[in-house]
Amino acid sequence: YRSKAKGRGTYTIFTIDMVDSHKRKLSIANSIDQAISENEFIVYYQPKVDKHGLIIAFEALIRWQHPEFGMIMPGEFIPIAERGGKITSITQWMIEQVAKEMPTIRAIMKRRFRVSVNLSGHDLRHSGLFDMIHDIFNRHMVNPEYIEFEVTESAYLENFALSNKFFRRVGNMGCAISLDDFGTGYSSLSYLTQISIDTLKIDRQFIRELETSERSRLVTGTIIDLAKRLSLTICAEGIENHNQWDYLIEHGCDHVQGFLFSEPVPLDNLPFLPPRFHRQSTKAV
Ligand code: C2E
Ligand code: MG
Ligand code: MG
Ligand code: MG
Repeated sequence: YRSKAKGRGTYTIFTIDMVDSHKRKLSIANSIDQAISENEFIVYYQPKVDKHGLIIAFEALIRWQHPEFGMIMPGEFIPIAERGGKITSITQWMIEQVAKEMPTIRAIMKRRFRVSVNLSGHDLRHSGLFDMIHDIFNRHMVNPEYIEFEVTESAYLENFALSNKFFRRVGNMGCAISLDDFGTGYSSLSYLTQISIDTLKIDRQFIRELETSERSRLVTGTIIDLAKRLSLTICAEGIENHNQWDYLIEHGCDHVQGFLFSEPVPLDNLPFLPPRFHRQSTKAV
Protein backbone atom coordinates (compact mmCIF):
# COMPACT_ATOMS: atom_id res chain seq x y z
CA TYR A 1 0.00 0.00 0.00
CA ARG A 2 1.37 3.38 -0.95
CA SER A 3 0.08 6.40 0.86
CA LYS A 4 -0.12 9.98 -0.35
CA ALA A 5 2.11 10.96 2.50
CA LYS A 6 4.94 9.07 0.89
CA GLY A 7 4.36 11.06 -2.27
CA ARG A 8 4.16 8.00 -4.44
CA GLY A 9 0.65 8.51 -5.83
CA THR A 10 -2.84 7.98 -4.57
CA TYR A 11 -3.58 4.46 -5.73
CA THR A 12 -3.77 1.37 -3.57
CA ILE A 13 -1.94 -1.83 -4.35
CA PHE A 14 -3.20 -5.08 -2.87
CA THR A 15 -0.11 -6.78 -1.58
CA ILE A 16 0.43 -10.47 -0.91
CA ASP A 17 0.11 -9.64 2.81
CA MET A 18 -3.32 -8.12 2.37
CA VAL A 19 -4.55 -11.05 0.32
CA ASP A 20 -3.15 -13.49 2.90
CA SER A 21 -4.79 -11.63 5.75
CA HIS A 22 -8.10 -11.66 3.89
CA LYS A 23 -7.76 -15.38 3.25
CA ARG A 24 -6.96 -15.99 6.90
CA LYS A 25 -10.07 -14.06 8.01
CA LEU A 26 -12.25 -16.04 5.63
CA SER A 27 -10.73 -19.29 6.73
CA ILE A 28 -11.26 -18.38 10.40
CA ALA A 29 -14.87 -17.36 9.74
CA ASN A 30 -15.55 -20.63 7.93
CA SER A 31 -14.01 -22.94 10.50
CA ILE A 32 -15.73 -21.73 13.70
CA ASP A 33 -18.47 -24.39 13.66
CA GLN A 34 -15.90 -27.08 13.16
CA ALA A 35 -13.72 -25.63 15.92
CA ILE A 36 -16.64 -26.03 18.33
CA SER A 37 -17.44 -29.59 17.31
CA GLU A 38 -13.75 -30.60 17.27
CA ASN A 39 -13.06 -28.90 20.62
CA GLU A 40 -10.32 -26.65 19.31
CA PHE A 41 -11.17 -23.86 21.74
CA ILE A 42 -9.60 -23.80 25.17
CA VAL A 43 -10.28 -21.75 28.31
CA TYR A 44 -7.40 -19.86 29.95
CA TYR A 45 -7.85 -18.43 33.44
CA GLN A 46 -6.30 -15.25 34.79
CA PRO A 47 -6.46 -14.65 38.55
CA LYS A 48 -7.92 -11.54 40.16
CA VAL A 49 -6.30 -10.66 43.47
CA ASP A 50 -7.70 -8.80 46.50
CA LYS A 51 -5.86 -6.21 48.64
CA HIS A 52 -4.34 -8.96 50.75
CA GLY A 53 -2.82 -10.62 47.69
CA LEU A 54 -5.27 -13.53 47.73
CA ILE A 55 -6.88 -14.89 44.58
CA ILE A 56 -10.60 -14.16 44.75
CA ALA A 57 -11.59 -14.77 41.14
CA PHE A 58 -10.52 -15.87 37.69
CA GLU A 59 -11.36 -14.33 34.35
CA ALA A 60 -12.02 -17.00 31.72
CA LEU A 61 -10.39 -15.99 28.42
CA ILE A 62 -10.85 -18.03 25.28
CA ARG A 63 -8.06 -19.24 22.97
CA TRP A 64 -8.23 -21.25 19.78
CA GLN A 65 -5.73 -24.01 19.12
CA HIS A 66 -6.13 -23.92 15.35
CA PRO A 67 -4.87 -26.99 13.40
CA GLU A 68 -3.34 -24.80 10.68
CA PHE A 69 -2.65 -21.40 12.27
CA GLY A 70 -1.58 -22.48 15.77
CA MET A 71 -2.81 -20.50 18.77
CA ILE A 72 -5.22 -17.72 17.76
CA MET A 73 -6.10 -14.99 20.26
CA PRO A 74 -9.65 -13.74 20.90
CA GLY A 75 -8.76 -10.22 19.73
CA GLU A 76 -8.49 -11.72 16.25
CA PHE A 77 -11.35 -14.22 16.06
CA ILE A 78 -14.06 -12.74 18.32
CA PRO A 79 -14.74 -9.79 15.95
CA ILE A 80 -14.85 -12.24 13.02
CA ALA A 81 -17.26 -14.48 14.93
CA GLU A 82 -19.42 -11.45 15.76
CA ARG A 83 -19.61 -10.37 12.12
CA GLY A 84 -20.43 -13.91 11.02
CA GLY A 85 -23.21 -14.40 13.58
CA LYS A 86 -21.24 -17.13 15.39
CA ILE A 87 -20.46 -15.42 18.67
CA THR A 88 -23.34 -16.82 20.69
CA SER A 89 -22.29 -20.40 19.81
CA ILE A 90 -18.83 -19.53 21.14
CA THR A 91 -20.31 -17.97 24.29
CA GLN A 92 -22.40 -21.08 24.84
CA TRP A 93 -19.32 -23.30 24.41
CA MET A 94 -17.38 -21.06 26.81
CA ILE A 95 -19.98 -21.08 29.61
CA GLU A 96 -20.49 -24.81 29.23
CA GLN A 97 -16.72 -25.44 29.36
CA VAL A 98 -16.32 -23.27 32.46
CA ALA A 99 -19.24 -25.17 34.02
CA LYS A 100 -17.51 -28.49 33.29
CA GLU A 101 -14.20 -27.26 34.72
CA MET A 102 -15.77 -25.67 37.80
CA PRO A 103 -15.52 -28.74 40.06
CA THR A 104 -11.78 -28.97 39.37
CA ILE A 105 -11.26 -25.27 40.15
CA ARG A 106 -13.31 -25.63 43.34
CA ALA A 107 -11.14 -28.55 44.42
CA ILE A 108 -7.97 -26.49 43.83
CA MET A 109 -9.26 -23.31 45.50
CA LYS A 110 -11.00 -24.83 48.51
CA ARG A 111 -12.76 -21.50 49.18
CA ARG A 112 -15.11 -18.95 47.62
CA PHE A 113 -14.19 -17.43 44.28
CA ARG A 114 -15.88 -16.40 41.06
CA VAL A 115 -15.13 -17.20 37.45
CA SER A 116 -16.02 -14.45 35.02
CA VAL A 117 -17.05 -14.98 31.41
CA ASN A 118 -16.99 -12.19 28.84
CA LEU A 119 -20.19 -11.48 26.91
CA SER A 120 -20.40 -9.76 23.57
CA GLY A 121 -23.00 -7.13 22.66
CA HIS A 122 -24.36 -9.62 20.15
CA ASP A 123 -25.07 -12.08 22.96
CA LEU A 124 -27.27 -9.50 24.67
CA ARG A 125 -29.42 -9.16 21.55
CA HIS A 126 -30.02 -12.91 21.59
CA SER A 127 -33.40 -13.46 23.25
CA GLY A 128 -32.56 -17.00 24.38
CA LEU A 129 -29.41 -16.00 26.29
CA PHE A 130 -30.84 -16.25 29.79
CA ASP A 131 -32.49 -19.63 29.17
CA MET A 132 -29.31 -20.95 27.59
CA ILE A 133 -27.29 -19.99 30.68
CA HIS A 134 -29.93 -21.25 33.07
CA ASP A 135 -29.97 -24.59 31.26
CA ILE A 136 -26.16 -24.93 31.41
CA PHE A 137 -26.15 -24.16 35.15
CA ASN A 138 -28.86 -26.77 35.72
CA ARG A 139 -27.22 -29.50 33.71
CA HIS A 140 -23.82 -29.00 35.36
CA MET A 141 -25.18 -28.11 38.80
CA VAL A 142 -23.34 -24.78 38.80
CA ASN A 143 -23.99 -22.48 41.74
CA PRO A 144 -24.61 -19.10 40.01
CA GLU A 145 -22.85 -17.38 42.93
CA TYR A 146 -19.59 -18.68 41.48
CA ILE A 147 -20.16 -16.98 38.14
CA GLU A 148 -19.64 -13.42 36.97
CA PHE A 149 -20.30 -11.85 33.58
CA GLU A 150 -18.11 -9.14 32.09
CA VAL A 151 -19.57 -6.80 29.52
CA THR A 152 -18.02 -3.67 28.06
CA GLU A 153 -19.55 -0.31 28.68
CA SER A 154 -20.42 0.04 24.98
CA ALA A 155 -21.98 -3.44 24.66
CA TYR A 156 -24.13 -2.73 27.72
CA LEU A 157 -25.26 0.71 26.62
CA GLU A 158 -25.83 -0.12 22.96
CA ASN A 159 -28.37 -2.71 24.16
CA PHE A 160 -29.56 -0.76 27.17
CA ALA A 161 -33.07 -2.16 27.74
CA LEU A 162 -32.13 -5.76 26.90
CA SER A 163 -28.96 -5.54 29.00
CA ASN A 164 -30.81 -4.20 32.02
CA LYS A 165 -33.38 -6.97 31.80
CA PHE A 166 -30.81 -9.71 31.26
CA PHE A 167 -28.40 -8.57 33.99
CA ARG A 168 -31.22 -8.09 36.49
CA ARG A 169 -32.28 -11.69 35.85
CA VAL A 170 -28.79 -13.21 36.13
CA GLY A 171 -28.10 -10.92 39.09
CA ASN A 172 -31.20 -12.21 40.88
CA MET A 173 -29.95 -15.72 40.28
CA GLY A 174 -26.73 -14.84 42.16
CA CYS A 175 -24.28 -14.04 39.36
CA ALA A 176 -22.11 -10.91 39.58
CA ILE A 177 -21.74 -8.41 36.75
CA SER A 178 -18.73 -6.26 35.80
CA LEU A 179 -18.53 -3.35 33.44
CA ASP A 180 -15.34 -4.09 31.48
CA ASP A 181 -12.88 -1.61 29.95
CA PHE A 182 -14.51 1.17 31.95
CA GLY A 183 -13.56 4.74 31.09
CA THR A 184 -12.85 4.27 27.41
CA GLY A 185 -16.26 4.44 25.82
CA TYR A 186 -18.69 7.01 27.17
CA SER A 187 -18.48 10.53 28.46
CA SER A 188 -21.83 10.52 30.23
CA LEU A 189 -21.89 8.89 33.62
CA SER A 190 -25.58 9.39 34.32
CA TYR A 191 -26.38 5.86 33.15
CA LEU A 192 -24.39 4.39 36.05
CA THR A 193 -27.31 4.94 38.40
CA GLN A 194 -29.67 3.10 36.08
CA ILE A 195 -27.84 -0.12 35.39
CA SER A 196 -27.57 -3.41 37.15
CA ILE A 197 -23.86 -4.06 37.87
CA ASP A 198 -21.59 -4.91 40.81
CA THR A 199 -18.11 -3.99 39.60
CA LEU A 200 -16.31 -1.42 37.46
CA LYS A 201 -13.18 -2.67 35.71
CA ILE A 202 -10.84 0.23 34.97
CA ASP A 203 -9.41 -0.14 31.49
CA ARG A 204 -5.80 -1.22 31.08
CA GLN A 205 -4.99 1.98 29.21
CA PHE A 206 -5.18 4.04 32.42
CA ILE A 207 -3.04 1.54 34.32
CA ARG A 208 -0.43 1.48 31.56
CA GLU A 209 -0.08 5.25 31.83
CA LEU A 210 -0.16 5.46 35.65
CA GLU A 211 3.57 6.13 35.98
CA THR A 212 3.89 8.58 33.10
CA SER A 213 0.65 10.52 33.01
CA GLU A 214 -0.71 12.73 35.77
CA ARG A 215 -4.04 12.72 33.94
CA SER A 216 -4.24 8.92 34.02
CA ARG A 217 -3.47 8.95 37.75
CA LEU A 218 -6.23 11.51 38.23
CA VAL A 219 -8.74 9.59 36.14
CA THR A 220 -7.89 6.30 37.89
CA GLY A 221 -8.23 7.87 41.34
CA THR A 222 -11.52 9.46 40.33
CA ILE A 223 -12.94 6.22 38.92
CA ILE A 224 -12.05 4.44 42.18
CA ASP A 225 -13.79 7.22 44.15
CA LEU A 226 -16.81 7.09 41.91
CA ALA A 227 -17.12 3.31 42.30
CA LYS A 228 -16.93 3.62 46.10
CA ARG A 229 -19.59 6.33 46.19
CA LEU A 230 -21.85 4.12 44.10
CA SER A 231 -21.06 1.14 46.37
CA LEU A 232 -19.57 -0.74 43.44
CA THR A 233 -16.52 -2.97 43.63
CA ILE A 234 -13.56 -1.64 41.67
CA CYS A 235 -11.15 -3.86 39.75
CA ALA A 236 -8.10 -2.72 37.77
CA GLU A 237 -6.79 -4.75 34.86
CA GLY A 238 -3.35 -4.82 33.24
CA ILE A 239 -1.17 -4.50 36.35
CA GLU A 240 2.39 -5.28 35.25
CA ASN A 241 4.56 -3.85 38.02
CA HIS A 242 4.69 -3.06 41.73
CA ASN A 243 4.45 0.72 41.28
CA GLN A 244 1.06 0.29 39.66
CA TRP A 245 -0.10 -2.13 42.35
CA ASP A 246 1.08 0.22 45.13
CA TYR A 247 -0.71 3.18 43.58
CA LEU A 248 -3.95 1.22 43.27
CA ILE A 249 -3.78 -0.14 46.82
CA GLU A 250 -3.06 3.33 48.21
CA HIS A 251 -6.12 4.66 46.38
CA GLY A 252 -8.43 1.95 47.69
CA CYS A 253 -8.79 -0.26 44.63
CA ASP A 254 -10.48 -3.53 45.65
CA HIS A 255 -9.23 -6.02 43.08
CA VAL A 256 -6.33 -6.19 40.65
CA GLN A 257 -5.51 -8.36 37.69
CA GLY A 258 -2.49 -8.45 35.40
CA PHE A 259 0.74 -10.08 34.30
CA LEU A 260 2.38 -9.03 37.60
CA PHE A 261 0.34 -11.81 39.21
CA SER A 262 -0.12 -14.20 36.32
CA GLU A 263 -0.79 -14.35 32.65
CA PRO A 264 -3.91 -16.29 31.71
CA VAL A 265 -3.12 -20.01 32.14
CA PRO A 266 -4.88 -23.26 31.22
CA LEU A 267 -6.74 -25.26 33.89
CA ASP A 268 -3.79 -27.64 34.37
CA ASN A 269 -1.58 -24.76 35.55
CA LEU A 270 -3.96 -23.44 38.23
CA PRO A 271 -2.43 -25.61 40.99
CA PHE A 272 0.93 -23.88 40.42
CA LEU A 273 -0.28 -20.37 41.17
CA PRO A 274 1.15 -19.09 44.46
CA PRO A 275 -1.27 -19.17 47.44
CA ARG A 276 -0.61 -15.49 48.07
CA PHE A 277 0.99 -12.55 46.22
CA HIS A 278 3.18 -10.18 48.21
CA ARG A 279 3.80 -6.49 47.73
CA GLN A 280 7.40 -5.26 47.71
CA SER A 281 6.51 -2.02 49.42
CA THR A 282 6.41 -2.16 53.21
CA LYS A 283 3.82 0.60 53.52
CA ALA A 284 0.72 -0.36 55.42
CA VAL A 285 -2.50 -0.72 53.45
P1 C2E B 1 -10.74 -8.21 28.29
O1 C2E B 1 -11.99 -8.89 28.71
O2 C2E B 1 -10.58 -6.78 28.65
O3 C2E B 1 -9.56 -9.11 28.86
C1 C2E B 1 -8.32 -8.62 29.28
C2 C2E B 1 -7.26 -8.85 28.24
O4 C2E B 1 -6.05 -8.26 28.72
C3 C2E B 1 -6.89 -10.33 28.02
O5 C2E B 1 -6.46 -10.48 26.67
C4 C2E B 1 -5.72 -10.52 28.96
O6 C2E B 1 -4.87 -11.59 28.59
C5 C2E B 1 -5.03 -9.20 28.80
N1 C2E B 1 -4.21 -8.87 29.96
C6 C2E B 1 -4.42 -9.21 31.24
N2 C2E B 1 -3.47 -8.71 32.06
C7 C2E B 1 -2.63 -8.02 31.25
C8 C2E B 1 -1.42 -7.27 31.50
O7 C2E B 1 -0.94 -7.14 32.63
N3 C2E B 1 -0.83 -6.70 30.42
C9 C2E B 1 -1.32 -6.83 29.16
N4 C2E B 1 -0.67 -6.22 28.15
N5 C2E B 1 -2.46 -7.52 28.89
C10 C2E B 1 -3.09 -8.11 29.93
P2 C2E B 1 -7.02 -11.62 25.73
O8 C2E B 1 -7.18 -12.91 26.48
O9 C2E B 1 -6.22 -11.61 24.49
O10 C2E B 1 -8.50 -11.12 25.42
C11 C2E B 1 -8.72 -9.94 24.71
C12 C2E B 1 -10.18 -9.58 24.68
O11 C2E B 1 -10.92 -10.58 23.97
C13 C2E B 1 -10.82 -9.55 26.07
O12 C2E B 1 -10.57 -8.31 26.69
C14 C2E B 1 -12.28 -9.74 25.72
O13 C2E B 1 -12.85 -8.54 25.30
C15 C2E B 1 -12.20 -10.67 24.52
N6 C2E B 1 -12.48 -12.05 24.96
C16 C2E B 1 -11.63 -12.97 25.52
N7 C2E B 1 -12.29 -14.13 25.77
C17 C2E B 1 -13.57 -13.94 25.37
C18 C2E B 1 -14.76 -14.77 25.36
O14 C2E B 1 -14.78 -15.92 25.81
N8 C2E B 1 -15.89 -14.20 24.85
C19 C2E B 1 -15.93 -12.91 24.36
N9 C2E B 1 -17.09 -12.43 23.89
N10 C2E B 1 -14.85 -12.13 24.37
C20 C2E B 1 -13.69 -12.63 24.86
MG1 MG C 1 -12.97 -9.02 30.47
MG1 MG D 1 -11.11 -5.66 30.19
MG1 MG E 1 -9.50 -4.42 28.03
